[in-house]
Amino acid sequence: MAPKVPSVLDTVPIGEWFNGHTRPFIIAGPCSAESREQVLDTAKALAGTGKVQLFRAGIWKPRTRPNTFEGVGVDGLKWLAEVKETTGLRTITEVANAAHVEACLEHGIDALWIGARTTPNPFSVQEIADALKGVDIPVLVKNPINPDIQLWVGALERISRAGVKRLAAIHRGFSWFDRTPFRNSPMWEFPIKLRQMFPDLDIVCDPSHIAGERSLISYVAQKAMDLNMSGLMIESHIDPANALSDAEQQLAPKDLQDLLEGLVIREPDAGDMAFRSTLEELRSIIDELDDEIIQKLSARFSIAEKIGEYKRDNNVTILQIERWEQIMRKQLELGDKMDLAEEFINDLMNAIHKESIRRQEGVMNRELADR
Ligand code: PEP
Ligand code: MN
Repeated sequence: MAPKVPSVLDTVPIGEWFNGHTRPFIIAGPCSAESREQVLDTAKALAGTGKVQLFRAGIWKPRTRPNTFEGVGVDGLKWLAEVKETTGLRTITEVANAAHVEACLEHGIDALWIGARTTPNPFSVQEIADALKGVDIPVLVKNPINPDIQLWVGALERISRAGVKRLAAIHRGFSWFDRTPFRNSPMWEFPIKLRQMFPDLDIVCDPSHIAGERSLISYVAQKAMDLNMSGLMIESHIDPANALSDAEQQLAPKDLQDLLEGLVIREPDAGDMAFRSTLEELRSIIDELDDEIIQKLSARFSIAEKIGEYKRDNNVTILQIERWEQIMRKQLELGDKMDLAEEFINDLMNAIHKESIRRQEGVMNRELADR
């Protein structure tokens, strides 16, 4: 086996990238640049909040399906240059290859991010890294779309080796096969692990792509702040409902301002920082497990309903005692191995059974009502 190479990233703190900023460092702007007017109107409104350090807009959009809006291309870079000129906001966009990097540098874009679909491809990341050699521009690397921390680390290392010191990570959640309340499962343990590996690396959270819908963004943003992340990247559009991409998750500038004003930012004081971050980390793992328990229960009850339909169609009774006794025996045995008290397993499984029966009765009753 190849020896493990110890990894260090030589980085400048995000708060020192430009003129000096306090936490949280805020990146905001539309998912995509759509028109000159949309870009400039959004930027003016965001500049008016006084809370935004970098204005984002995607110019080349990596879309899951063809025949969707794939970005305006180089024209958008001119609009970003205009944003900087008229509002003073610095700008950032996504790059996926060397040509993108070169076009951004030509148009005076201030910072770049690597998207979740590019991070997992070492060829693309290396191509970007090569294009960045000798260039002093801040770069943020989103986590790969799949939950693999090594790919995230590898991309950060490639960019770091190109000499980029203003380097940070963006946590935007992970694609997950199971249904979750989020578009991308946050899996907080990943950014926590990344921080353990690189304590000096700033991590910015992207609650928009985690949440996938407006109503969950503030919850995710607050959680990121409680986990002591350095900043937030949040999508904001002058007319979210009519956005050409990610319409459900973009906030109007005023709503973004309200969200930012509502955040509770606890400044870590030296005395209790270690204690609090350990507590927050453990709590976040508990939250994640609770989410999984609820999601698994929901999946279990959906299957119980399917069984109910099958029993109904075949005239079988809902309650089949032997089957239930078999389930209980099996779980008591497993519980014993896992150090869970018999009484607890009994209570839990009985509660689950009761709800499954209720759902199956619902299936039967619906059938009766339909007759
Ligand atoms: C985006 O920021 O609009 C984007 C495409 O993000 P991600 O790469 O995280 O999906
Ligand atoms: Mn988006």
